[in-house]
Amino acid sequence: MSNYKMNTKCVQGGYTPGNGEPRQIPIIQSTTFKYATGEDMGKLFDLEAAGYFYTRLQNPTNDMVAAKICDMEGGTAAMLTSSGQAANFYAIFNIANCGDHVVASSTIYGGTYNLFHVTMRKMGIDFTFVSPDCSEEELNAAFRPNTRAVFGETIANPALTVLDIEKFARAAHAHGVPLVVDNTFATPVNCRPFEWGCDIVTHSTTKYMDGHGAGVGGCIVDSGKFDWLAHKEKFPGLCTPDDSYHGITYAEKFGQGGAFITKCTAQLMRDFGSIQSPQNAFLLNLGLESLHVRMPRHCENALAVAKYLKAHPKISFVTYPGLEGDKYYDLAQKYMPNGTCGVVSFGFKGGRAAAEAFMKHLKLAAIETHVADARTCTLHPASTTHRQMTDRELEAAGISPDLARFSCGIEDGDDLIADMEQALNQV
Ligand SMILES: *Cc1c(COP(=O)(O)O)cnc(C)c1O
Repeated sequence: MSNYKMNTKCVQGGYTPGNGEPRQIPIIQSTTFKYATGEDMGKLFDLEAAGYFYTRLQNPTNDMVAAKICDMEGGTAAMLTSSGQAANFYAIFNIANCGDHVVASSTIYGGTYNLFHVTMRKMGIDFTFVSPDCSEEELNAAFRPNTRAVFGETIANPALTVLDIEKFARAAHAHGVPLVVDNTFATPVNCRPFEWGCDIVTHSTTKYMDGHGAGVGGCIVDSGKFDWLAHKEKFPGLCTPDDSYHGITYAEKFGQGGAFITKCTAQLMRDFGSIQSPQNAFLLNLGLESLHVRMPRHCENALAVAKYLKAHPKISFVTYPGLEGDKYYDLAQKYMPNGTCGVVSFGFKGGRAAAEAFMKHLKLAAIETHVADARTCTLHPASTTHRQMTDRELEAAGISPDLARFSCGIEDGDDLIADMEQALNQV
């Protein structure tokens, strides 16, 4: 599928049935797989042969869907996870151990911030958060000898900052570590971070990829471009023998294109087990089949909503990277010339109370802890997803107390604006 264009990859990537085989990706709803001899199965356990033996590690349905996303991103290997949280945890923990350090953009999803700042710190991994707008000098100054990765979001949820992928990739590579980018909001339809120097991409497939609010899921894709063996001393997990697999060295046995995902599957999925169910992978694939059709519509509605709000007297600010004049407009034009995402944030001249009143009066847009759904939904981060944060942390994450996050679905844009209009009239 690699030679086809994105629209074709979305529809047909990852699975090409043979004669008489199912047209749609089959759901292999089986925990285990049968073998004629223990020897055959032993080879799989030793990673000497490729194949399936237990769905906690690998399942054919999941692998077909992962292959489609891999193709869309232009990577060499990919795996599905049970959630976006699991994808980001695995992507970092696959290369950072206790005593290591990671540089991350400060404007990242609240759940990821918590994962890094609280939970992974308890595991002995330290994080330095830098503004996505920092200078190259500030960015370089955040590195330490034990830094193992750099992390950011293409378009941050919910701050809607745009990551200067080339700037972050340059700094990461100058320090001999990979850049990991969470590409959830842009999706590969609008941005392919590997084309700009990113090494590993993660997704919460729960969002646009699924697109229907049907299944929580995640994905990790490797570009195959990072030379682990050239930085052996930093990545012993990939470049020295794994005792739990009879001394296999991943970077040698599976090469630059396969080492990262193979280790992540063989060690982390084996030990932590955050597998996506084959049922959910099937549903995810249904979403992927129309992703290229839905994304432009999300973006079209969001731009119309952003323009409407920008001109409204009760609105204090509008943040949408696709809106001319937005702080991130130029970066968005560079990295995502065809569109950004369907999410718009804005604030109220009447402050936090006005934000809450507006939410209450919406009819079409539902209040949900969700974004990137076919149905329009909205959220007040300061009182929900980000309520654990102090005001200073909120500010660093680019979220003010009156900020509303509005995720434009693929309904008629006129109806969305009319709904906002009647709600704003009651604020
Ligand atoms: C939602 C989200 C996540 C977490 O994904 P889940 O599937 O909810 O675990 C991670 N990153 C971004 C950018 C997200 O929007």
